[in-house]
Amino acid sequence: MTSPDVVVVGSGPNGLAAAATLARAGLGVQVFERSDAPGGGTRTAELTLPGYHHDICSAVHPLAVASPFFRAFGLAERLELLTPEVSFAHPLPDRPAGVAYLDLARTAHELGADGAAYRRMIEPLADRALAVARFTGSSLLGIPDDPIAAGFFAARVLEQGTPVWNARFREEQAPAMITGVSAHAIVRQPSLVAAGAGLALQAHAHAGGWPIPRGGSQAIADALVADIRAHGGEVVTGHDIRRLSDLPPARATVMDITPRAFLALAGDRVPARYRRALSRFRHGNAAAKVDFALSGPVPWADERVRKAGTVHLGGTRADMAWAENQVARGRHAADPYVLVSQPSVLDDSRAPGDHHVLWAYTHVPAGSDVDQTEAITRTIERVAPGFRDLIIAHRSATAVDLSEQNPNYVGGDISAGAATLWQLLARPVLSRDPWRTALDGFYLCGSSTVPGPGVHGLSGWYAAQSALRNTFGRRAPVDLAP
Ligand SMILES: Cc1cc2nc3c(=O)[nH]c(=O)nc-3n(C[C@H](O)[C@H](O)[C@H](O)COP(=O)(O)OP(=O)(O)OC[C@H]3O[C@@H](n4cnc5c(N)ncnc54)[C@H](O)[C@@H]3O)c2cc1C
Repeated sequence: MTSPDVVVVGSGPNGLAAAATLARAGLGVQVFERSDAPGGGTRTAELTLPGYHHDICSAVHPLAVASPFFRAFGLAERLELLTPEVSFAHPLPDRPAGVAYLDLARTAHELGADGAAYRRMIEPLADRALAVARFTGSSLLGIPDDPIAAGFFAARVLEQGTPVWNARFREEQAPAMITGVSAHAIVRQPSLVAAGAGLALQAHAHAGGWPIPRGGSQAIADALVADIRAHGGEVVTGHDIRRLSDLPPARATVMDITPRAFLALAGDRVPARYRRALSRFRHGNAAAKVDFALSGPVPWADERVRKAGTVHLGGTRADMAWAENQVARGRHAADPYVLVSQPSVLDDSRAPGDHHVLWAYTHVPAGSDVDQTEAITRTIERVAPGFRDLIIAHRSATAVDLSEQNPNYVGGDISAGAATLWQLLARPVLSRDPWRTALDGFYLCGSSTVPGPGVHGLSGWYAAQSALRNTFGRRAPVDLAP
């Protein structure tokens, strides 16, 4: 393509969502990606041994069904989403696990004494999960389209994000389940941000589920790339954009990069006031990941955990809060919180024969170069004795490795920006159109923009709509259906 209408820098799910929307609007779109394969955080590769397909970043996709962008795009019709009967489980040493079935009634029943309290908390959100996804997936400066859903959500965030968080519970399982999900946010516990992120995900656990795509998260990138190409767009890989002059001239440039990277690329062309606002954007703490090739399924002591797509580890709510607060203070936790996905329980294409792949990560201070293989292995072994003997290969990525693989993960911050209350509103700046930069024709579309991290394509979709409005003068909705 010699002179595209729009250039997109970066092919993560947000860059691809922007490119697909703009190509569907009839514009000539060219995407440039520095890696050899498109997809950014949605890529799958043989990281350990041939025949073992590991997700490099994202593995579990509650928003593949709930995101307004993916619903408009018809993602579920374009690939096979495998939805586990157990959305997530939380094993605890020496007692039964907390198990979040897709079926909320069964979850509550197996929770015993805290079952009714758990159900009362989650049911109003699960019943309104799509409204919750619309509300949490948009600029919080707007007015929610379902104030009842927003009201239930806000009340529960206030409860679970403050020191009264244990008030309704008597046992360990239900609070551990809630903190296991809210700890995805990599922030202090309890906190409003963690509670908000967790409760939104938890609503989906008992509504559309926490699916994984057959073949891995790469299937999501492949579906988006196929649509871009089918509508005349081009995706160029192995092309690192280091200066704006590396790009062909275009009317609009949409960038799936961090504010810091934008400032480095655009240099003095960025107006001083906007430059100052962007330089205040902060990055957060980090993840360190280990992928395992296993000779069999993980021998979880509580057999119900064997059916879970996702497993959270780290002990009780108090144990996890302690570990997460260590990380918030810049320390490595001795007994860390660990997030595990076991895709091959559902998807037999991921490993040969009866072998399995396992994806696990923990939280560490930003910029950590500490290998977490032993900490993660020990944590799993504690609730799955015999796990260590099944490992036939592993590959570790420290926070520093993650930041080198993808410049958006500054210091290993996989959220591409600290999850603070302020940065939920001002992401990357406080504006009703935060995707539009002060440099005419330039837009930011990565997860450093509203609504933040996760594979939902929303930042890309909103940035594309902003470009259509502001650069091309178009307001009509773009049909994305298959
Ligand atoms: C270990 C890990 C586990 C995760 N697990 C989950 C999960 O289970 N579920 C979930 O929903 N989310 C998960 N996430 C988060 C999710 O992957 C990200 O939020 C999501 O990928 C962000 O999408 P994006 O398009 O904004 O950016 P990215 O996916 O980061 O893509 C940005 C792309 O831009 C490219 N790029 C950057 N700079 C340049 C340049 N100058 N020139 C050319 N190309 C450039 C990068 O190479 C990259 O391909 C996880 C992330 C990590 C790292």
